[in-house]
Amino acid sequence: MADSSGNPGPSAGAAERSPRSSGPVSKERVAIVTGAARGIGAATAVRLAADGYAVGVIDLAEESGKETVDKIVSAGGRAVAVGADVSDRAQVEAAVARVASELGPVAALVNNAGVIRDNMLFKMTDDDWDTVMNVHLKGAFLMCRAVQSQMVEQKFGRIVNLSSSSALGNRGQANYSAAKAGLQGFTKTLALELGKFGVTANAVAPGFIVTDMTAATAERMGVDFETFQQAATERIAVRRVGRPEDVAALVVYLLSDRAREGGVTGQVYTIAGAKLAVWAQPRELRAAYASGGWSAEKIAEFLPGSVGTDPMPMLTQVAAMEKAARGGERPNA
Ligand code: NAD
Repeated sequence: MADSSGNPGPSAGAAERSPRSSGPVSKERVAIVTGAARGIGAATAVRLAADGYAVGVIDLAEESGKETVDKIVSAGGRAVAVGADVSDRAQVEAAVARVASELGPVAALVNNAGVIRDNMLFKMTDDDWDTVMNVHLKGAFLMCRAVQSQMVEQKFGRIVNLSSSSALGNRGQANYSAAKAGLQGFTKTLALELGKFGVTANAVAPGFIVTDMTAATAERMGVDFETFQQAATERIAVRRVGRPEDVAALVVYLLSDRAREGGVTGQVYTIAGAKLAVWAQPRELRAAYASGGWSAEKIAEFLPGSVGTDPMPMLTQVAAMEKAARGGERPNA
């Protein structure tokens, strides 16, 4: 069975790998997926294994990754479950070393592990902030730093960082949106620094995907998960709710040779239900120059009619967001 990109489906075993596969066909490569015990990470690990990768399944507890590993092994693939907290340097380094010694040098890394600690700013604790920053941002940094020498040595590497549509801003997610926006800047820097060593780095910013994470959001809001999904689906043009397998399919493409041949690096893609979208590169929109430098008065006089502003579409939705939050929805998922 082939999907629309011509890739073998997750059930395809090694013998069925087609030469049109988006992944490696001539040589098994090793990938690490963090937070791969469930949700998007588990689907991605299984999909990568079907595409010919041996997979290091990293999650908080080794035991929790066993189910993903069993799925991969029973389909004829190779995988190892490793317990590690991605925000802890020693655990990250030990986990990467274990994957490399059991499966081989790491060629691909998917930084997927994530948590949410949603709260409006005035209620957000230091711990809410630090936990989210540490898992998403520091975790991705530690993982990338730990694998990069193996990628450079192989002159081949693929990094995908899980961002989110919440990077655009989302009520109640000051911590999460900052971390997810930070991951986009981090990804672009990796693309710049590691490109000459055959390493690409891209970010995936999913919209609403049905997982335990979104189920927890629904529960926190006191909304039935079915109703919550329905509300999310209604905001997507083709009314198809996002599944972990959609994200996995995009990750597989981003790890492929075809993506690199097409110059795909430093990019951010959204996948949400039926939608696949590329984000604009952040850039300066309008500039003005003052040969003698700018004073506050000069800026106040000059800025409004020249450099101006770039309207933030979401600002016009604040009232709708507040209404949706009261009704238990998540308007910009
Ligand atoms: P999930 O909660 O279902 O799974 C997250 C996994 O990460 C869990 O297995 C958890 O144990 C693991 N994890 C958490 N902290 C960890 C740590 N410190 N070290 C190692 N593992 C850790 O979440 P999901 O919905 O599958 O989300 C996966 C990623 O996608 C996250 O980065 C999330 O922010 C992002 N994302 C999800 C959605 C969505 O709608 N579900 C949307 C946008 C982005």
